[in-house]
Amino acid sequence: MIGAARFRTHTAVGAAEATGQDVRVAGWVHRRRDHGGIIFIDLRDRSGMLQLVFHPEKAPEAHAAAERLHLEDVISVAGTVVARSDATINPRIPTGSVELAVTELERLAETEPVPFSVEDETTEPSEELRLTYRYIDMRRPRRLAALELRARVARAMRRVLDDDGFLEVETPVLTRSTPEGARDFLVPSRLSQGNWYALPQSPQLFKQLLMVGGLERYYQIARCFRDEDLRADRQPEFTQLDIEASFVEPQDIEDLTERVLAACFAEVGIEIPTPFPRIGYHEAMRRYGSDRPDLRFAIEIQDWTEAAGATDFAVFKSVVDGGGVVRGLVVPGAGEGVSRKDGDELMAEAQALGAKGLVWAIVQEDGTLRSPVAKFLDGLIADFGAVPGDLITLVADDEQVASEVLGTLRARFAERWGLIPEGVWAPLWVEDFPLVGWNAGENRWDSLHHPFTAPHPDDVDKLGTDPGSVRSLAYDVVLNGLEIGGGSIRIHDQQVQSAVFACIGLSAEEADDRFGFLLKALRLGAPPHGGLALGLDRLVMLLAGETSIRDVIAFPKTATGADPLTGAPAGVDDIQLRDLSVKSTVPLPDKGDS
Ligand code: ASP
Repeated sequence: MIGAARFRTHTAVGAAEATGQDVRVAGWVHRRRDHGGIIFIDLRDRSGMLQLVFHPEKAPEAHAAAERLHLEDVISVAGTVVARSDATINPRIPTGSVELAVTELERLAETEPVPFSVEDETTEPSEELRLTYRYIDMRRPRRLAALELRARVARAMRRVLDDDGFLEVETPVLTRSTPEGARDFLVPSRLSQGNWYALPQSPQLFKQLLMVGGLERYYQIARCFRDEDLRADRQPEFTQLDIEASFVEPQDIEDLTERVLAACFAEVGIEIPTPFPRIGYHEAMRRYGSDRPDLRFAIEIQDWTEAAGATDFAVFKSVVDGGGVVRGLVVPGAGEGVSRKDGDELMAEAQALGAKGLVWAIVQEDGTLRSPVAKFLDGLIADFGAVPGDLITLVADDEQVASEVLGTLRARFAERWGLIPEGVWAPLWVEDFPLVGWNAGENRWDSLHHPFTAPHPDDVDKLGTDPGSVRSLAYDVVLNGLEIGGGSIRIHDQQVQSAVFACIGLSAEEADDRFGFLLKALRLGAPPHGGLALGLDRLVMLLAGETSIRDVIAFPKTATGADPLTGAPAGVDDIQLRDLSVKSTVPLPDKGDS
């Protein structure tokens, strides 16, 4: 065991294997109970808990010292490991059949009252408090378990990739802007005043350069930085497993990724079936209204456009005549008890998501529909294969709005009506994405992934004439409705790269200014290559059964990008700014201490 024998010879859990032996263990005072003179202490170290017993007669000195201990004091104790009597065995902890009869106690650190209980995991302090005292929070077994799992998952990733001949390479953190489409974090240069580094949004350009450099197989557990407005599951800095390989097709990267993920799942004892199903982007949008569909439940979007256009319902008619669609969802068993008021709320919910409205209908016991517009819905039950008790919702709108709204409702309804089975893992690949999407606000085409993604070879000719119909060689891996990774085959031909830049409105000068080094590299012997990145935080969150990525990051930021522990981000000295020739236009917030 690593560690000095002066502090410990065994871990808490290791000591339980040493019945009858004299051992020394060290750790924190997790819990204490006084029983008529005998003091029991649960000692906690990273391995787990061990019960210590202090007898007033057998070891008076140690007993007297134990009386003065506080919760979370750090101690080292020596004694004999003894079997507990049958009546006192605690089957709930792995060391519950033994205890340590302590003969010697040394307090290594005396602890002030802690801001929240480590021992009582049932009461959850506010997240602000937990993050301010993250080092206390991570003493709690559940948090520790998440960090241990994270390390095991990273190790499993490395094992698969090392065995496959991938080289782990670090790429710079102080670099130039990289194009993942988010805002950059910037760092002013002192040595080259007026110039700025950008923190990488991903190692994308460097991993491509590594391929040009002949490394053939690269990976890195890389930190990425994106200055975006934070959402519940975002962090300004996050970690991804970043992979790139030469001489590959999408299938190679997908197979490799499946093996990596299978190894990660094996860490929590789950066997995920491979190969994962594959679905094209357009099919995913049509059937699930999402490019990251949750396949744990079977609800699919169904089309009723033709039938709706033939009804006398003016709303349907005008949408269908205008080229729109009428589509809907059947939510099994959700109809019971849905009142007219509930129906109005569903309508308002769809409108808040951007739909013009929503039609709801309930299949009654007698096989008829209850709905404010039931008379226009002839044939709907049979067309949608609905049965009594089902709720049907329809949206009439242009195709994209209908898809997106129904996609969101599909996920919400499954959650609301408890249709998501526990313990089911539904991974899949989404492929055949369009290369670009129309950005109406800016009046131009934008890359859907990043601008180095290769167009499908059959579609290259359409780059100049019909960019919207060009497919890409990109692929996303989706798990239970979350995108956990994505990548693509890259462009390795400088002419195609220039054509893609032109397509997204980047002039030759701009492209040269920002990515000239890459374009040059592509002219100097670039092999065909491709790769992918897996979001480590999110993956570990799913495997750990947590709902926030903050719970699987040792020192995460809050939703406002702050770190309550260190107080970052924080003001800096005027001198530091002067050295950098940087001037703030915003006065520092008054901290009230000067
Ligand atoms: N650079 C991409 C990302 O960070 C992943 C990739 O294309 O490999 O999302």
